[in-house]
Amino acid sequence: MKAADLDLRELLHFEPKGGVLTFAGQRALLFDAVALGLLRRELVKSLGLSGARGMLTRFGYAHGWRTAETLKNAFPWDDESEWRRAGGRLHALQGMVTFELPSRATNTGPEAFAEAIWHDSYEAEQHLLHLGRAEEPVCWTLTGFASGYLSYCNGREIYCIEERCRGKGDAVCTLVGRTREDWGDAITPHLPFYKKECLEEALAQVATELKRVEERLRARKKVLGHDAPESTGSGVVVQSEAMLRVLDLARRIAKVDSTVLITGESGVGKERLARFIHDESVRTGGPFVAINCGAMPEGLLESELFGHAKGAFTGATQDRPGLFEAANGGTLLLDEIGEVSPPMQVKLLRALQEREVRRVGENKSRKVDVRLLAATNRDLLSEVHGARFRQDLYYRLRVVELRVPPLRERRDDILALARTFLASASERMGRKVTSFTPGAANQLLRYDWPGNVRELENAMERAVALAKTSQIDIDDLPEEVGIAIPSAYAPGDVRPLADVERDYILAVVRANQGNKAAAAEQLEIGVATLYRKLKQYESVGGVS
Ligand SMILES: [Zn+2]
Repeated sequence: MKAADLDLRELLHFEPKGGVLTFAGQRALLFDAVALGLLRRELVKSLGLSGARGMLTRFGYAHGWRTAETLKNAFPWDDESEWRRAGGRLHALQGMVTFELPSRATNTGPEAFAEAIWHDSYEAEQHLLHLGRAEEPVCWTLTGFASGYLSYCNGREIYCIEERCRGKGDAVCTLVGRTREDWGDAITPHLPFYKKECLEEALAQVATELKRVEERLRARKKVLGHDAPESTGSGVVVQSEAMLRVLDLARRIAKVDSTVLITGESGVGKERLARFIHDESVRTGGPFVAINCGAMPEGLLESELFGHAKGAFTGATQDRPGLFEAANGGTLLLDEIGEVSPPMQVKLLRALQEREVRRVGENKSRKVDVRLLAATNRDLLSEVHGARFRQDLYYRLRVVELRVPPLRERRDDILALARTFLASASERMGRKVTSFTPGAANQLLRYDWPGNVRELENAMERAVALAKTSQIDIDDLPEEVGIAIPSAYAPGDVRPLADVERDYILAVVRANQGNKAAAAEQLEIGVATLYRKLKQYESVGGVS
């Protein structure tokens, strides 16, 4: 058998309904490339480029080594060279890269053991997406795989070096493999990535970094008192077109340091979006500080934001920096900016223009380097027209405006969000509630969610607490969600009249807690008619 004879349909075995998946007889998993890309980014962020490269190279090496071992006995190879070549072919079949043998030797020096041209490397693609263009080749797992595969096949140390790479702006990736002896000194800088000492070094580096982060968190908690917002990552869940557009824009404006005004109804997740912008920006290593301006009396807001000197007012027993200073080097979110009083608006405008703050009771100003984000559920422009909000501040805040659409305008997000909240609520409460009955899922989609994402989150928390089984049923949902009646017509969602009638009747019966007489009266039909219809639905299994 030849390498070219390998066929995905024969290599891959799976149960159509899910379960164990095997590739060439070994258990395999399907991963999402973007998720792997995110893992890569996290590795780079916590271990540094060298640490991440070492880890991913060894991961690839182990994968290549094991693949060679599996393939050796799995097929009757015509000769060893076919088996050796199968590694590249396998890589292509696994979707990682497409593989081409160069038509002639492209490099100088001793004849290469192996050479390849890679197109569409998933690794280069993900690196570019999450980390941007690199200085050096980035297809670390792929290179590790080739080294591991060839070393096993040949029973000696063979190392591959990626010479050109899409990840650093080349048109294709190219790979050359030689024995360690043939490489000579050229391989020396690459060897550490195959050794695990590199990992120990990285771990030591992580420990130092972690200590630094902890200190920063402690400092921040001190500044913020007990109300420090939990830093659980931006946690934005998105599936709808509308929200993907918002996120795309957010990602792009995250890269520039301008002020952003985030608008949207209350509960749509404006703070999450702010957090996302922070995470995507160059300030991500700095603090993210959020304050709700509407929740605080004016005097207190001023000293929270700008800090105060000891003795500035009764109760000011010591010097205290404000949130602007706490956010130095990072991002400050002013939530409910529309609630800020006119005198406070003047002070904010000044801080924004001068990029400095003055603590209450102090004469000197302090420079701050803060990116400001503001959020509001008000129509700020009409506040400007009504002279309740300063126009100059408005234009300074609204360099870019991001509107987060309400949940009812992005129904595709409802179930994705519901599942996320369900998972985190069950984990928090130590309950094994994992999914929704079809009826409950249907109701979630029908309801209008005036309280938006926050209302959905609360509903999920309540449902997890109430659920009697591992599935959430209609009864576990808040009453208004459980009885939500679909509007007769939604564009793009035309359903048969009989279905609409059935859903409507069942919803009205539920709204009357099963009291059929009351339901019939509201529907202005006879009780007998109602019974007949219900019986009919039951016989076709339509009662949810
Ligand atoms: Zn590459």
